[in-house]
Amino acid sequence: ACTAESVADAVRAAAAVVASHRDELVALDRAIGDGDHGENLNRGFTAVVAALDEGTPDTPAAVLKLVASTLISKVGGAAGPLYGTAFLRASAVVKDAAELGPAEVVAALEAALGGVVARGKAEVGDKTMVDALSPAVEAARSADSVSELLTAAAEAARAGAESTEPLVARKGRASYLGERSAGHVDPGARSTALILGSFAAGPV
Ligand code: ADP
Ligand code: MG
Ligand code: MG
Repeated sequence: ACTAESVADAVRAAAAVVASHRDELVALDRAIGDGDHGENLNRGFTAVVAALDEGTPDTPAAVLKLVASTLISKVGGAAGPLYGTAFLRASAVVKDAAELGPAEVVAALEAALGGVVARGKAEVGDKTMVDALSPAVEAARSADSVSELLTAAAEAARAGAESTEPLVARKGRASYLGERSAGHVDPGARSTALILGSFAAGPV
């Protein structure tokens, strides 16, 4: 099960993976956007780690809420409010549980997806982070331990992100390119896959 401490460790792992893939995310966003996705996310997660260094909040929900508010204030662009909403909804749905089991983690992932869709109105196939997050939620439902569930979610997100390569973007800045957005992986889908991958690899 995930305690506040292990959720914080997972978030630190996400920060590390965002930092080590910063240039890759910049390159993906340069191809079909404005080239700032890696920079934006890295700035946000660096601030998240700094906030956690001040002390780990008492509950998983409080950790997720701290991540949400920090990302909302530091990331900007399209991805800041979308990731912020995802973590905020995940926080709200786990309430004040001291530990999260598989049911709570699935509920948190579902809530995160619900938040992204409510905010951004993208559907699967629109070439956005939803193409990674939606299959991840689906895959998570059929597992019965937290680590198994996160591994399944990460793998589905990885495949989902890859599936965006041939697509024409219908949401966000990449949609301005029309047909020319095809042939590149969506940066937000890739970052979602990286972050979920780091959760799965972490000590949860
Ligand atoms: P910006 O486009 O403002 O520079 P970022 O580069 O940080 O923001 O993030 C771009 C990513 O945000 C895209 O790759 C896509 O995955 C995601 N995105 C953009 N618009 C939407 C939307 N309406 N719904 C879901 N995801 C979106
Ligand atoms: Mg951008
Ligand atoms: Mg931008």
